[in-house]
Amino acid sequence: MELAQKLAVLADAAKYDASCASSGAGRRHSLGTGGVGSTEGMGICHSYTPDGRCVSLLKILLTNFCLYDCAYCVNRVSSNVRRARFTPQEVVQLTLDFYRRNYIEGLFLSSGIIRDGDYTMEQMVEVARSLREDHRFAGYIHLKTIPEASPEAIARAGRYADRLSINIELPTEEGLARLAPDKQAAGIRSAMGRVQAGIEEHREARRAPRAATTPVRAKPPRFAPAGQSTQMIVGADDASDGTILRTSHALYEGFRMRRVYYSAFSPIPDASAQLPPRAPPLQREHRLYQADWLLRFYAFDVDEIVEAGRGDGMLELDIDPKLAWALRHPQHFPVDLNRAPRERLLRVPGLGARNVQKLIASRRHRRLRLDDLGRLRAPLARMLPFISVQDHHPGRRLDDPARLRGELAPQPRQADLFG
Ligand code: SF4
Repeated sequence: MELAQKLAVLADAAKYDASCASSGAGRRHSLGTGGVGSTEGMGICHSYTPDGRCVSLLKILLTNFCLYDCAYCVNRVSSNVRRARFTPQEVVQLTLDFYRRNYIEGLFLSSGIIRDGDYTMEQMVEVARSLREDHRFAGYIHLKTIPEASPEAIARAGRYADRLSINIELPTEEGLARLAPDKQAAGIRSAMGRVQAGIEEHREARRAPRAATTPVRAKPPRFAPAGQSTQMIVGADDASDGTILRTSHALYEGFRMRRVYYSAFSPIPDASAQLPPRAPPLQREHRLYQADWLLRFYAFDVDEIVEAGRGDGMLELDIDPKLAWALRHPQHFPVDLNRAPRERLLRVPGLGARNVQKLIASRRHRRLRLDDLGRLRAPLARMLPFISVQDHHPGRRLDDPARLRGELAPQPRQADLFG
């Protein structure tokens, strides 16, 4: 098969993986080293999933051959798709060529399982090694890690990659056992633990003061400096949003994940009968990202976000989870922006963490008024019912949350007849 044909097959096969953002990498460039690339700058490719989502690339699989039979995956062994395989050298050359043309920002490399997990991981590591050592490539590298790979292979992967990720795949162990019978939840978690231990160990070693006799250049090696991330498929099983968020919370707490990516299940050709016939609404994925943000940066806990809700552990789709919480708890509002502590300001719908910082800084010098809020570039109409400032009080608007909800929720749109 021609290289271009392989690229068409293996880039297409990789588009279902959403976890390839390059955020979090340290600043690094090759100026003056004679190498190529940097972790800064733009130019990453984009691709579209069949349901219309735009996902950023360069994402390719080393191969879409796979020994496993995960029901939700287009590359599973029982799938009737065209197969292709790159050699590590081909991936290296493609990455360098694309980088030089400014098509991409770096490499996101994943793979089906060929022969076994260890062999597959070694092939992927060879790509990263060659880019770093043979070509002094300083761009971003994200390697998808095979949980069954040996600790040594994972250690080598961490040495060359900016980020490692191991997909948790599904929110529950039962879901995993049913839809991905070859994968073991315990194995996935222990591989995540190994990556986490490697990251911490190397970070500490680099921070430790060096002995006076150590040569200046002998810095301990880096290990996945952009941390680890994971991806969860949403809507392939019947796990509720509450269950999904609890799993995410455990992953953030237990393995210090940089990100948990939510990927709405996309129906695939020749899908297994165990899967739902339709994709979940994309809005569900969006609401999960908002809820995830509330967990990480706004000090909400899962029970607050999904409490009661619609009674089924699901997030409301028509309004964001922070507004939903505020409408369920009118007793906590209005929040006086001139006096309230930061944690209460963070609970105000429409008020983001950065704007909270700005307000706190401003109110040290003067009492806040409506004019000050106008300068924040925040959705004022959403905030006003929940706040008071020098010249504004919401009056009795919070007395009737159902009515307020009707005012703040986007108006329903007629469904597309041909959608
Ligand atoms: S291991 Fe499962 S999810 Fe990964 S490529 Fe193979 S079949 Fe797909």
